[in-house]
Amino acid sequence: MSLSTSPRGRRVTRQVRIGHVVVGSDAPIMVQSMTNTDTADIQGTINQVFALANAGSEVVRITVNSPEAAAAVAAIREGLDKLHCNVPLVGDFHFNGHKLLRDYPDCAKALAKYRINPGNVGRGDKHDTQFAQMIEIACREQKPVRIGVNWGSLDQDLMGRLMDENSRLPQPKSAQQVMRDALVASALESAALAEEVGLPGDKIILSCKVSDVQDLIAVYSDLAARCDYPLHLGLTEAGMGSKGIVASTAAMGILLQQGIGDTIRVSLTPEPGGDRTKEVIVAQEMLQTMGLRTFTPLVTACPGCGRTTSTFFQELAAKTQSYLRAQMPVWRSSYPGVENMSVAVMGCVVNGPGESKLANIGISLPGTGELPVAPVYEDGKKTVTLKGDRIAEDFQALLDAYVHRTYSGDSPGASLTDAGAVGRQVIPIASVAR
Ligand code: SF4
Repeated sequence: MSLSTSPRGRRVTRQVRIGHVVVGSDAPIMVQSMTNTDTADIQGTINQVFALANAGSEVVRITVNSPEAAAAVAAIREGLDKLHCNVPLVGDFHFNGHKLLRDYPDCAKALAKYRINPGNVGRGDKHDTQFAQMIEIACREQKPVRIGVNWGSLDQDLMGRLMDENSRLPQPKSAQQVMRDALVASALESAALAEEVGLPGDKIILSCKVSDVQDLIAVYSDLAARCDYPLHLGLTEAGMGSKGIVASTAAMGILLQQGIGDTIRVSLTPEPGGDRTKEVIVAQEMLQTMGLRTFTPLVTACPGCGRTTSTFFQELAAKTQSYLRAQMPVWRSSYPGVENMSVAVMGCVVNGPGESKLANIGISLPGTGELPVAPVYEDGKKTVTLKGDRIAEDFQALLDAYVHRTYSGDSPGASLTDAGAVGRQVIPIASVAR
């Protein structure tokens, strides 16, 4: 089967509903994440799911690995509902999933989707039986499943079979190619078995995660061409910090550009005690910088150079991005379309005004030896120039007013070109030497 794409360039797939979220074809590419709390810790898990959802995760997966974890799931769902957080929960099952779903029916009901790893459902005769038991519960509860193959836990019986077949070929493939084939075969054969057991095709999502960028691109390209199930995209064990972000983006960016990938997760290793929501922000920024979705206004900032020796513009860029992100839970409903806004924070007037003109609102801070003033552009026009020691606060006030004026649909409100609206440091442009 060759890759069939929609007029918008997305691979045509069946659509799968996870709670209220639709995945596949031209539905927005969905961002999801996973908790790292002990699921048996009900309050800790509620808190982290809430934080992930608040950061923009549209589905959150939780580990269901023990009777204690399974017993906690319904209470976690209830706690989230009380917080008016309706993010669908996905249960991640391995080895004992068939028992947990059977013994904890409230857990089976509270979850919006089950993730089943065909490499971890039992070996030999038990494999198909235990896999079928989980699928039967999904059928009864009318839940979708993700058949999530992972290189680290690839079905060893299947791998052995493909290795044997390969060794009999006149020109055997490389071990790497056999591994890639086995990942795809595991996903497709498991999906076929799930449909045979009775799960409708529009309740199946597939993933084949590996930790190597080239393997991920090859495996997903193959998988995408051979089925029309929606695909969950992610580089597993991507790693820490910039390495994890770069590897995930390099792999997923190429696939997304080809229309492959219906939901994504960025599997970052957090710093000890680090913020779990970073994986959500990275996933959103990946989609937004590729022009595939918009979530929050993004700040364009220059890298800085010898023309600006103070760190003020870096601090302002970071502060502005944090401020914009923090406003989004409220702005999203009050100011429709604000997520498309672009903001520039530049280090000096060499490239600053040009970049500011391209943004909805932009500021150029004074570089070394330049007049201690900061021109602001709104919609391509210079509106005010800030000076003094409250430039950061004044720029934030200008941002607020721009957002209100542009996205509220109300009357224009306070004009930010009015110096009185934001304080003494705002100078109408007519009075500033340029
Ligand atoms: S805008 Fe100015 S400070 Fe920033 S990189 Fe360009 S020349 Fe350097």
